[in-house]
Amino acid sequence: MRANKECTRQIRYLMGCFVEIEAQGENRFLSLNAVNAAFSEMKRIEKNLSRFLPDSVISNLNRMAAISPVEVQEEIFDLIERCVRYSELTGGAFDITASPFIELWNGAENHGRTPTHQEIDSASKAVGFQNLVLDRKNQSVYFSHPQMKLDLGAVGKGYAVDRAIELLRHHGIRKGLVNAGSTIYCFGGELRFGITDPMDPQSCITTVLLQDNAISTSATYERFYEIAGKKYGHIIHPKTGCPVEGEISSLSVISESAMESDILSTAFFVNGNHQDIKRLAARSEVKTLLIDSACHIALLPN
Ligand code: AMP
Ligand code: MG
Repeated sequence: MRANKECTRQIRYLMGCFVEIEAQGENRFLSLNAVNAAFSEMKRIEKNLSRFLPDSVISNLNRMAAISPVEVQEEIFDLIERCVRYSELTGGAFDITASPFIELWNGAENHGRTPTHQEIDSASKAVGFQNLVLDRKNQSVYFSHPQMKLDLGAVGKGYAVDRAIELLRHHGIRKGLVNAGSTIYCFGGELRFGITDPMDPQSCITTVLLQDNAISTSATYERFYEIAGKKYGHIIHPKTGCPVEGEISSLSVISESAMESDILSTAFFVNGNHQDIKRLAARSEVKTLLIDSACHIALLPN
């Protein structure tokens, strides 16, 4: 978006990355108002969803929901319910209950050794979206295993980007962009967006055209566990409890919903199989761009 007198662009640090928001409205004042509102909304969502903030709704659930059902706001209940639907859709590849595995691998990095089979086996008993008891009538969440915990790290940013875009539109913005690093949404105009080369993260390997849609990328070149000199990606296979080690170096999903692109990029990264990705991508009407370790690029469905 070219800077002009109606356009405002700001960058702030939130959700663990630099977020850029651009808006073009009737005038500069309205654009600035909209950008401020969009950032406030993302901050609010971070405060609710982050498992690193002790006062967040998710941290409270992680402390209390295995003891007795915890009532949550409708927004959180809906979000968790939608996550469970995507777990079902992706055959459990995306699972917000994978947290015990994530904590195990975080600990492993600190201890300098990979988790033992016994540790993985024990954590696996607390993992599984089927153990999440959602009661719509009472709007409550209950964990049926005492060590169960939630981690919305694979969906929170996408959800926040959708909400920020909604606010920009609500404020009358004609053309806008929210760039949260791994998830980007642009509306009201075209944006040719560069996809990072996983083998050389300073450069782009290809570009995609965004217009009224979002792109999310899951990759291991930026976030990984380093244990005894070996790098393990931060995406965990909920069936094995181990980081996904496959041919895929980077996987991007383009969707009309940033939340969906965020969820599916993680799920497809776990899934890895072209046939499965094609089938799920066709069902959800999304496009997927895969880059493998030999830098081959595939677009599904093509
Ligand atoms: P993303 O970068 O969007 O692919 O999300 C990765 C983050 O989501 C990780 O850092 C974990 O916090 C969490 N995560 C890892 N594996 C999974 C999984 N299989 N399903 C859901 N969340 C996951
Ligand atoms: Mg994701």
